[in-house]
Parts: sequence; structure tokens; C-alpha cells
Amino acid sequence: MSEVDPDYQVAVVGGGPAGLTTALYTTRLGHDTVLIDRGGGRAAMMQETHNVIGITEEVSGNELIQTAKRQIESYGADTVRGMVSDIHGSSGAYRLDVGEETYTAERVVLATGFSDDRPEPPLPRTGRGLHYCLHCDAYMFIDESVYVMGTSETTAHVAMIMLNFTDEVDLLLRGEEPEWGEETDRQLRAHPVDVIDEEITGMNTDQDGWLKSFEFEDGTTREYRGGFPMFGAEYHAELVEVLDLKRTDGGAVQVDDHGRTSVEGVFAVGDLTPGHSQIPIAMGEGAKAGIAIHYDLREFPKSLAELDGESVDPASTPAVSEEIREAARQRDGAEPSAADD
Ligand SMILES: Cc1cc2nc3c(=O)[nH]c(=O)nc-3n(C[C@H](O)[C@H](O)[C@H](O)COP(=O)(O)OP(=O)(O)OC[C@H]3O[C@@H](n4cnc5c(N)ncnc54)[C@H](O)[C@@H]3O)c2cc1C
Repeated sequence: MSEVDPDYQVAVVGGGPAGLTTALYTTRLGHDTVLIDRGGGRAAMMQETHNVIGITEEVSGNELIQTAKRQIESYGADTVRGMVSDIHGSSGAYRLDVGEETYTAERVVLATGFSDDRPEPPLPRTGRGLHYCLHCDAYMFIDESVYVMGTSETTAHVAMIMLNFTDEVDLLLRGEEPEWGEETDRQLRAHPVDVIDEEITGMNTDQDGWLKSFEFEDGTTREYRGGFPMFGAEYHAELVEVLDLKRTDGGAVQVDDHGRTSVEGVFAVGDLTPGHSQIPIAMGEGAKAGIAIHYDLREFPKSLAELDGESVDPASTPAVSEEIREAARQRDGAEPSAADD
């Protein structure tokens, strides 16, 4: 049994779309929730938002996150800006260290995502010719000249995939040797992709900061609207290691269909888990984990075994905390919007 009486039922680590959606569900389903986020994740890097129904593309990642944060706060969630450096304990009583503070919770949700590895400069700005999300941004390169940068199998495949969108695809090796296998090499050579060996020595952009062209060490200049660097990614897995969660060969956290990890009481959602790295998918995983946690933690109905012949004391209802009831009373029915800033 635990020695602590946890402050929260749910602690969510990571405030991108996955963690925010989990916190939205757990809070609106009546569970005291704290969301702890250090900021600066992949969603925060988005200049524009694509592929999210109902969100127009002019909405930046930061706007989306700030609106969602205000939403969950309005339902009664607590949000904390900080980095969780350690987690101790077991299901029912986890302790999370954030600077000098400690937060305690019955369940923990990891939504810490990953970081894309950046190639060496010269490089245009992210979202202005440098793009990390194929399923989000390939559309903007229809009939445009694009590059794919790197030396891996994935680089070669992405270059061929881009032929679905445009007939002008260059693969930039940047002076390195290709690392793809012989079969991929034959496949690539059978597709109209130009492989450019030389390193990039310079770059030109327009007045909006969009990439116009790269200059190469052989003196040539090639024009591009933008492209995709393929240098891999690093999971934010410090807490995954602390908790000794099972991982896939690729390093993602293994989960079931509801985000349950190999350790009881610990869930994982979003880019930290296997599958497509997309906002709607991160949100869907967050929703599923939030509902699973609710099934796990809700007070009623009591089973006949729990009742043991007794009836529920009406004074013990409703089960939701006074904090969440107060937040519900305070709400005037209006959803907070980005315009409220
Ligand atoms: C440039 C770019 C553009 C993109 N555009 C789109 C798009 O248009 N549409 C789309 O669907 N997808 C897009 N994506 C993909 C999308 O951003 C991700 O799939 C999505 O953000 C994943 O959500 P997440 O919550 O899992 O992770 P993230 O958004 O990365 O959030 C993780 C959060 O956890 C925090 N964190 C990590 N460790 C800790 C810790 N120890 N303590 C506290 N906090 C911690 C991070 O700082 C971060 O704030 C884009 C990605 C990039 C890089």
C-alpha cells in the first residue's frame, strides 16, 4: 500500500497535442489532473497546422497549444511549466520531481515525444523550406522543386515518395556516402530522382524567409521550394528509462490499444509511441488513454463484491472532487479561444 495520499489522480508529462488531449479527457471525466510541460515540443515548432479538421492552417502550433491549455484549465486541470526530472513509486502513488517541487499522482501518462535530428547549416527556417513532417507538408510541394536530404534507406524512399507530388526531386547527399542497400539503389536509379553528391556551401531565401536555392561546392545553384531532412530522431526517453518501460526495436514505448505500458499505472501516448507522428493520431491516443484511465479510476458503479451487502452512502456522491465541481460551476459555457489573449 502507498504511504502517500496522492495530490492528483493523474499526472501527464508533456503538453503537446497528446498530453493535452489526455488531460482534457481525464479532467472532463472528473479526475484531478496535473499536466507538466517544459515547452518547445514538435507541435510548438509548427508555423502552420495541417491535417487537423476544424483548425485552419493559419493557426500556429503555439496558438493551438495555448488554446488547448486554457481549455483544460477551464475544466479544472492544473498546468505546471517545468521539466519532470525523475519519477518514483508504483501504481497508485507515483512521485514526480519538477525542480524543487514534487507532485504525486495515482496514474502517470508520458507524452514527451521526440526531437528530429537537424542537419548541419546552411539551412532555411523550419516551415520555410525545411520540413520535418512528410504527411503534413508534401501537399505544399505539388508541382514544386523539392529536395530530400540524407544518406539512409529512408532518405531514398522519401525521395521516391515525393514523385507522387512533383516531377522535380533531388536527393542531397551533402558530400557523404549513401548508406542504402543495393536493392534500394537499383530502385532509386529506376526513378527520376537526381542524386546530388556535393556539399551545400550557401543558401538564398526570399524576403519572407522562404528558401529559394542552395549553392553547391561545385559552383552550381539549384532552386527549391523546400524539402525534408532525413537524419532520424531522438525520443525524449529519460523517464522511460527511469520507469524501465518496454520499448520497440526502434526505441518507441510499447503500448496496448489504450496507451497502457508494460508498467502498471503508467501510460504513454503520441509521438513517444509507435505509429504515425501526426496531431490527430496523438490526440486520438490521448483520448483513448484518458478514457481508459477513467474506467480504471472512477468510483461508481461499485461491484457487488465491493458493496458486500451494503448500499452506497448518498453522502459519498458525487465522486468528483470539490475542485472540479467548482470549475464546472465557474464555467459560463463559453469555450476559450485564441482571440481571448
Ligand atoms: C515542424 C513540424 C511541423 C509539423 N506539422 C504538423 C502538421 O501540420 N500537422 C500534423 O498533424 N502534425 C504535424 N507535425 C507532427 C506533430 O507536431 C506531432 O506528431 C505532434 O506534436 C506529437 O504530439 P506529442 O504531444 O506526442 O509531442 P510534442 O508535440 O512533441 O510534445 C511533447 C511535449 O513534451 C515535453 N516534454 C518532453 N520531456 C519532458 C519532461 N521530462 N518534462 C516535461 N515536459 C517534457 C516537450 O517539451 C513537449 O512540449 C509537425 C512536426 C514538426 C516537427
